Amino acid sequence: MNDLLVMKFGGTSVGSAERIASVSQILSEEARRRPVVAVVSAMSKVTDLLLETLRRAEAGDADDVRANLQRLEERHLTACRQLLPPHAQPPVEDGIRQILGEFERIATGILMLGERPPRSVDEAVAAGERLSVLLVTAHLKANGVRAEAINGAEVIVTDAVFGNATPLMEPTRAKAQARLRPLLEAGVLPVVTGFNGATVDGKPTTLGRGGSDFSASILAAVLEASELWIWTDVDGIMTADPRIVPDAAVLEEVTYNEAAELAYNGAKVLHPRTLAPLIERQIPVWSKNSFAPDKPGTRIVPRIQVSNGARAVTSLPHVAMISIEPSSGVLSGAQIMGKALEALGRANVEVLALTSSSYRQAFCFLVRESELGAAMEALEDALLLELEHGYVRPIEVDEEVGLLAVVGEGMRGTPGLAGRIFTAISRERINIIAIAQGSSELTIAVVVRRDELEKAVRAVHAECRMAEQARARGRTP
Ligand code: ASP
Ligand code: MG
Repeated sequence: MNDLLVMKFGGTSVGSAERIASVSQILSEEARRRPVVAVVSAMSKVTDLLLETLRRAEAGDADDVRANLQRLEERHLTACRQLLPPHAQPPVEDGIRQILGEFERIATGILMLGERPPRSVDEAVAAGERLSVLLVTAHLKANGVRAEAINGAEVIVTDAVFGNATPLMEPTRAKAQARLRPLLEAGVLPVVTGFNGATVDGKPTTLGRGGSDFSASILAAVLEASELWIWTDVDGIMTADPRIVPDAAVLEEVTYNEAAELAYNGAKVLHPRTLAPLIERQIPVWSKNSFAPDKPGTRIVPRIQVSNGARAVTSLPHVAMISIEPSSGVLSGAQIMGKALEALGRANVEVLALTSSSYRQAFCFLVRESELGAAMEALEDALLLELEHGYVRPIEVDEEVGLLAVVGEGMRGTPGLAGRIFTAISRERINIIAIAQGSSELTIAVVVRRDELEKAVRAVHAECRMAEQARARGRTP
């Protein structure tokens, strides 16, 4: 099916009855032209509330659990009543109660155990997506579109890393093809829950927070779709976060590499793992705004005619910098670095940027604040003897830092760019704590004090004339 379109709708795009109605409108219009698979997130804030409910359950707070369940039921029942004609409501209301009933059963188990195993969380938390898929599908049907609700666990096969699973592409291909092809051939629009999957032996898993984008790209890859459209609540990928830089502009086109770097370094439009499955078949992606569907959005493609210079700047405020310094020449710096990185890898901690310089082979790297605890535990464990014998200085942590990343394919081989970026930052009297640039020259990462991060972002955005360049490019055909 070479004209298949996969469309993913994020939480705000299905955040209310009104939003769901407009999603269903977008879907039915496209489905008239070509086969479509929809992938849907939970209604905005629902996943947060489900997870919070399970935490309350673990803490033994039965009242909070009940109150939250009430809120979840109310939100979805209200949407159901606003969306559907009276005769179509009762089966959907039953469906909502059933899904929440299953969630409640798991929450009750956690409440009794006083423990919240990751596997049970994964089994419970996709309730949010099941609920939104139920509503979207019901609205499509009520408007004469043949649609079917599909649980992602039926089509996406993953490893057993609960909470952050990775897809197994070949089994997923087999399952997704077997389940979805016949529907598409019969002219039915499958509406699939984002975020979740199941192991080979059927245990429910999730792909990590924000993982619905990833669900959609996995399905686009295995179904060999011609395009993937990711619908959010912003106009596309921008030169900077418009809350920090009011003047930021939408980029008409970016490469897979640029989009992946931007997502990884804090741009919120795409889940960082989204693009990987698409590279092999070079499936183009559009990032579009479901609140303004007529705007073109950003096209993400394998390569573009590069313009010189930097294209966008992102920032990550919630990071911490860890510094490790060997204090004697007994062990080589490389050995210590090797041990440290291996420990972080085993603990599943992501190293965001790493730099090393100086005679002593001291090195420092950034991790997410949320992973700092796990990182320190892993490092102190792995370097226990070295620390005890004084071969390594006590590990230092600075939590008051932020990371700024300047991204652009056209930075490669452009002399003077790094200099301009650093000058722009220092002109604001902001001190640069650490710098990292890989030899791909795609990204320059700069660490500054957190309270100066936004100012640094504005300085770099202005210096590199990112908005002007994006707007100029947007005007030339
Ligand atoms: N609902 C899930 C989350 O909030 C997945 C998603 O929205 O992509 O993490
Ligand atoms: Mg989301």
